[in-house]
Amino acid sequence: MNAQPAPLKCRLCTVRLSHDNPRDDFTRAICGDCRQHPAARRLGPVSASGGSIGAPRGFTTAEKALIRKVYGYMAPLQLLALLNERLQADLGDAANLYTLDQLHAEIQGLPAGVVNTGDWSALRKYLAKARRAGLLEQVNVQVIDDFAVVFALSTAQQLRLKDIALGARETSHD
Ligand SMILES: [Zn+2]
Repeated sequence: MNAQPAPLKCRLCTVRLSHDNPRDDFTRAICGDCRQHPAARRLGPVSASGGSIGAPRGFTTAEKALIRKVYGYMAPLQLLALLNERLQADLGDAANLYTLDQLHAEIQGLPAGVVNTGDWSALRKYLAKARRAGLLEQVNVQVIDDFAVVFALSTAQQLRLKDIALGARETSHD
């Protein structure tokens, strides 16, 4: 019990996992919020031996071609799930999976890319930060409605914001 392993990070959004959050899945190295994301559903346990989430192999030429073709219109986590499915088909379930950072780096390297892949990852970091600061607890429907008026959000944006912010709040309280 005196071992102090390096803090485990969510393999999808790289937010640090916390034992304070009962939804964080340490076995699979997925945070409570990403667990609900379709991309997390197929992810198996992190290999118990050694417990290291080492870097997976680099993207193959075929995978790079795939990324180049679809990154403009496919959600990053969906693309990541697709790549990891291929990876697991190739190497088996024990393979170290590709991470969002890795995908991000690959896309950054593409010429003239309109890079948008950081969104989910960045958002997750903001939410985690807000949660730690106790700010998230103060966000309620009224706050979001007021915000929506002040910043002239569309109904869709307003609903999405509620979905994300209130959803994250429930996660932290559950
Ligand atoms: Zn996550």
